[in-house]
Amino acid sequence: MNTKPAKTKINLLSLSKQELADFFVSIGEKPFRATQIIKWIHQRGVSDISLMTDLSKDLREKLLKECEIRAPEIEREEYSEDGTKKWIIKVGEKDLIEMVLIPENDRSTLCVSSQAGCAVDCSFCATGKQGFSRNLGLDEIIGQVWIAANSFGLPRESASRNITNVVMMGMGEPLLNFIPVVEAMKLMMDDNAYGLSKRKVTLSTSGIVPKIDELSKVSDVALTISLHAPNDQLRNELVPINKKYPIQELLDSVKRYVASCDDKRVTTIEYILIDGINDDLSHAEELSVLLEQLPSKINLIPFNAFEGSNYLKPSGNRVKRFQEYLKNKGYVTTIRSTRGDDIMAACGQLVGQVNDKTRRKERAQKNKIQIKAI
Ligand code: SF4
Repeated sequence: MNTKPAKTKINLLSLSKQELADFFVSIGEKPFRATQIIKWIHQRGVSDISLMTDLSKDLREKLLKECEIRAPEIEREEYSEDGTKKWIIKVGEKDLIEMVLIPENDRSTLCVSSQAGCAVDCSFCATGKQGFSRNLGLDEIIGQVWIAANSFGLPRESASRNITNVVMMGMGEPLLNFIPVVEAMKLMMDDNAYGLSKRKVTLSTSGIVPKIDELSKVSDVALTISLHAPNDQLRNELVPINKKYPIQELLDSVKRYVASCDDKRVTTIEYILIDGINDDLSHAEELSVLLEQLPSKINLIPFNAFEGSNYLKPSGNRVKRFQEYLKNKGYVTTIRSTRGDDIMAACGQLVGQVNDKTRRKERAQKNKIQIKAI
């Protein structure tokens, strides 16, 4: 009896454009095959290699033997009354992540996760409370976009909608999973894949300063800063990474990023308003002074409650008052409408796998390692 284990197939979703070109060269093909494959997979949503008719029969047979196109497995889907849809997706052996689709008129914004859990541990965030488990691979990041785009129907040309915007704002700190995130964003913006403009792909970061500088060398996507506090003392409590990269260092790195882009940029500053913590008029005043140094618009997000958090959502009046103050100071200031909170899909509520007591120890250990590496 032959006990030789079956050869693992190469998942073509896990290869960057360059890696695909290298792969084709390695099997004696021209590198432009990478573009053909990318079109089939990402532009047309096709996962069956035998349907890729502009590849020779021989090549298709070879690919069928050696490769596969395998998106991560969907555990379940949840629908909000307001039209928001959440997917809970299995990654690896035991992790679950979440992605959220927010349809709004002609826009379909997809909120994509970059890590299972997160080590940054922002005090207002359900993901942070879980701790870090693992980084997602390129197949698991771009696979989320692929799943969502295919959910509108195939073939893609006659789909009911398209993904119009992607925000790297789901579970995890995207800059701590740098290469897969950058390669996934390149595919999002590739005309032969999803064809989104650089203004329609947004990376949101808690402020990993050296990685913002690194990003400026390889990408010019829209950058959003999760600030949430106007001074270091308060931000140290809400976003603990601030102890390592304080506000002024962070804003300086954002200025360098903006300067490296070849167009005029206004940076979006996200500010979660938490009742009695950071929503006072004195905080609005401090924030308006702080941001004088950086062309910015402010996105206010009333805190979304989750189990185990002692924070409260501020009243509508307090939110309005904060917004009015900043508007009067000349800042474009919007209040993000809460979408999908009936399915726990709103900002700061994404958890993937919760109540996983047996794995807490393991996560705590991984968390320590990740934090040390930042
Ligand atoms: S807000 Fe973002 S960076 Fe902070 S803990 Fe949550 S997922 Fe991590």
